[in-house]
Amino acid sequence: MALERTFSIIKPDATRRNLTGAINKKFEDAGLRVVAQKRIQLSKAQAGEFYKVHAERPFYDELCEFMASAPIVAQVLEGEGAIAKNREVMGATNPSDAAAGTIRAEFAESVGENSVHGSDAPETAAVEIAYFFSGLELVG
Ligand code: UDP
Ligand code: MG
Repeated sequence: MALERTFSIIKPDATRRNLTGAINKKFEDAGLRVVAQKRIQLSKAQAGEFYKVHAERPFYDELCEFMASAPIVAQVLEGEGAIAKNREVMGATNPSDAAAGTIRAEFAESVGENSVHGSDAPETAAVEIAYFFSGLELVG
């Protein structure tokens, strides 16, 4: 399996509850390395641009409000098969479907306020990393 990078967000419900360290421990325990990280607060427009693939979905407006409601931690995670590995550590979108021990099973509050984002494919990982980080900020 190849060394990959994926894009991750620790979402506002988790930063509000001071869970950044607990979530990063899950990543590191799974062999994912945090190679870039910054805590920022998105505007609703920036959140809307990031999630524009979901613009037609009924939850889009609420999702954008939520993502702008408190700071997020934007991250790049690196590791063997990092994209799939991160999705596995995150667990299913809806915490009631998430496997035991996953981040969403342990920490998510609802299907919307589900603590983490992770890229779903190499193409989206590249676009999402470039939306938040410059090449100079990636020091793996
Ligand atoms: N979401 C929601 N309601 C839904 C499905 C998704 O509020 O019924 C939110 C949730 O925060 C999710 C995000 O929209 O993480 C993006 O949805 P996606 O299907 O891409 O899930 P993910 O890739 O985050 O597991
Ligand atoms: Mg997704």
